[in-house]
Amino acid sequence: MSPVASGEALRERLVPWYRANARDLPWRRDPSPYHILLSELMCQQTRIDTAVPYFNRFTVRWPTIEAFAAASPDDVLTMWAGLGYYRRARLLHAAAVAAVARGGLPADPDALAELPGIGAYTAGAIASIAFGVPAAAVDGNVERVISRVDRLDADPRSKGGKQVLRVRAQAIHAPGVASEVTQGLMELGATVCTPRAPRCEVCPWADVCLARPAGDVTAYPRLPARKAAVAVRAVAGILRRDGRVLCGRRPEGLLGGLWEPVGAEIGPEEDAQAALRQAFAARAGMMAHVGPLRGQIVHVFTHRRLTVEVYEVSAEEAVGFVGDGTYTELAWLAADGDGVGWSKLAQKILAVAPVTGGHVGDTPPAAG
Ligand code: SF4
Repeated sequence: MSPVASGEALRERLVPWYRANARDLPWRRDPSPYHILLSELMCQQTRIDTAVPYFNRFTVRWPTIEAFAAASPDDVLTMWAGLGYYRRARLLHAAAVAAVARGGLPADPDALAELPGIGAYTAGAIASIAFGVPAAAVDGNVERVISRVDRLDADPRSKGGKQVLRVRAQAIHAPGVASEVTQGLMELGATVCTPRAPRCEVCPWADVCLARPAGDVTAYPRLPARKAAVAVRAVAGILRRDGRVLCGRRPEGLLGGLWEPVGAEIGPEEDAQAALRQAFAARAGMMAHVGPLRGQIVHVFTHRRLTVEVYEVSAEEAVGFVGDGTYTELAWLAADGDGVGWSKLAQKILAVAPVTGGHVGDTPPAAG
């Protein structure tokens, strides 16, 4: 069996290839530490094409990390709406606030990793791309390319596998080309060594890759089988007033800080209308009359497949409302959600039962 290629052999092939093939991305035109922080957090679990317009809007609104750190968390969430994984937005903002408090983003990967929301990968990416520090940054793309070029049998998500990949990525680095090495590895995984149809014929590593001649390229990386998403059933009620819909705001958690029409998760056999009446009573202190089913939407989170039945609702005024903790606040919100962050789930629900006109600001039922 052929030996694995040296770090130097991989670097010599990768760097010129990256220089000739790098895609034109907005953060590559001006790879400041702030821009790399934004782009890395935005591109996690999101396609680059989707992230680019968000990056452009963020940098127009907040041109510097100081301006961004001074923004309200609500404004950040609103601008983030649609990108998903909202925890990233809160952590991104927290990282910027912490960085500004200590005089800016540091170049040292260990110091970067002390900031909220910045793990080893993001720290390596910022240090190498923005500061030219030869620091490994192993994301899913890098994991795949290295697993294939070495025919690595370790599970790349296991502790041992992560360590092997990190050491290997570090060995490809060298002073003076840190940015090209990190971005080249990511670019190779994103555009050539892709998950299902790698284009080995144009790969700069084709002559040193072990998986290619063995004919088992797509058997790597050796990831454990994925768990199937759990099916979850839910109900949502559209209660209207003056062109607005009654919404609750989620506390910390998966959709923390975001607004959605009042609803609940329910059991597979549970009576949806009865569950919705109960949800309005418990969350908004309202006696709800549940009208016709408007439609059904499906929304997939990382590990949950949510099927939401959407109903029209009318209700009596709130009396002596004591919330059950599902929401931190209630408000009547307009269709465009101006000033608030709609989750993608809420957007889908409102697409089934649209709100019309109006503005945020009506008095919500008394919370307490
Ligand atoms: S030769 Fe093929 S499998 Fe090997 S690194 Fe290149 S694209 Fe990936």
